Amino acid sequence: MRIEGEADHVNWYLDKDDPDENSIRGRVQSMYMIADANGRVVDQPDTYSDTYKALGFDPPAYVKAVLSNPVQPQWQTRKAGGVRYLIRSGYILNDSRVNPRKFYVAIGSSLANNDKVLTDFTWLCIALIPLVAVLGAATGWIVAGRALRPVMEIARAAQRISGSNLSLRIPERKAADELEYLVETFNDMISRLEQSFIQVRQFSTDVSHELRTPITIVRGQLEVALFTAETAEQYRDAIVTAMGDVERLSQIVRALLLLSQAETGQVVLQLQPLDLIETARNITEQFEIPAEGADVRISFHGGAGNCEGEFDRVQIERMLSNLISNAVKFTPPGGEVRVSAKREGDHAEIVVEDTGQGISPQHLPHIFDRFYRVRGPEEQSSPEKGLGLGLSFVNWIVRAHSGTIDVKSEPGNGTTFTVRLPLHSHPPTAIVTDDTHDSVMKPV
Ligand code: ADP
Repeated sequence: MRIEGEADHVNWYLDKDDPDENSIRGRVQSMYMIADANGRVVDQPDTYSDTYKALGFDPPAYVKAVLSNPVQPQWQTRKAGGVRYLIRSGYILNDSRVNPRKFYVAIGSSLANNDKVLTDFTWLCIALIPLVAVLGAATGWIVAGRALRPVMEIARAAQRISGSNLSLRIPERKAADELEYLVETFNDMISRLEQSFIQVRQFSTDVSHELRTPITIVRGQLEVALFTAETAEQYRDAIVTAMGDVERLSQIVRALLLLSQAETGQVVLQLQPLDLIETARNITEQFEIPAEGADVRISFHGGAGNCEGEFDRVQIERMLSNLISNAVKFTPPGGEVRVSAKREGDHAEIVVEDTGQGISPQHLPHIFDRFYRVRGPEEQSSPEKGLGLGLSFVNWIVRAHSGTIDVKSEPGNGTTFTVRLPLHSHPPTAIVTDDTHDSVMKPV
């Protein structure tokens, strides 16, 4: 569009062959107005469209404001007959060199279509929301159901597992995801529980077995005495014998109580500075008389310097006492027991070796088990030989002090126990503290 010459003549210059310009022309020419600098609509043909006239020409004040505004073009939205129009306005200059003048030009476009699309879209959304919500809920329900199915399977498998069938395991899914990890963790936990159950069961079996024999013997002795004894002397003898067995029973019960307290962590190490060379020497000396009685030579060999660390004196003495007493007990007359203690870097090394009967390889892995005794045929009838609990205590005391115990034995040639204890920083392992210090100290 151009405004020509002095006559303010408006001419539309459009390329009729250009389909784009033709389509724009239709829209632009349907809604426009041209005004002079005073806001008066130019009284010429083609200076406004009927639609703009129906909408109402822009007031002179607005026209002047637009013309003087450096920001071009200006936008406004106007409404007529329920239809909104977006109007862009600015100025153009006529092409007169003599009398250059500014003209106000406003071109509008109906927003009816946009508004319709927007309204339709809004209604579509409103209509779709419940549908989408229902679809979403249904999909969520199905997906959640699928995702939780393995959890339900785990729960069902877990419900089937009880104390009597702890060998059951939850089937693995081979999926390498979080649930698989949960299944593995769960199965590991059941394995640990199963292990504990087996230990408890074994313990009860051992205990009842160990207690049954002395109880049967006591009962037999008392019954015989009841039916056959005639004099007070005979009754007395029967009671004395029975007392011996009752004493053994209470010894077993005391030792068991101590061991179970220790293993359930109810008690704490009483750590104090202790020189292991000195302690081992003292305990060895205590066994000199019994060893002499058994015709066994006993000797102690202490390393140079001291071997001091934080230890529970009572437990260390108990450990030494058990090892040395076994060595003396299982060494035939004429044999020898050697005890040595020395410092090896940040560890103490205590060795108790004997030239005794030794332990055969099939028994060796079990000697630290509760109630495990290697009995020859002649010992079957003499249960007073030992409780089979001493080495269980030794093992546990060593572990409580974060140490290790190692045994080497050759049947007929003797046995060597080697204990290594760190001289510093024991973890706070729970361990028994009781006043019956001699309760598991074995008599030789
Ligand atoms: P016990 O009260 O029977 O000695 P322990 O737990 O102390 O119980 O020992 C378990 C078994 O290990 C013993 O019965 C014995 O057969 C074997 N044993 C332990 N120490 C020695 C040793 N120095 N020489 C030979 N056998 C040993």
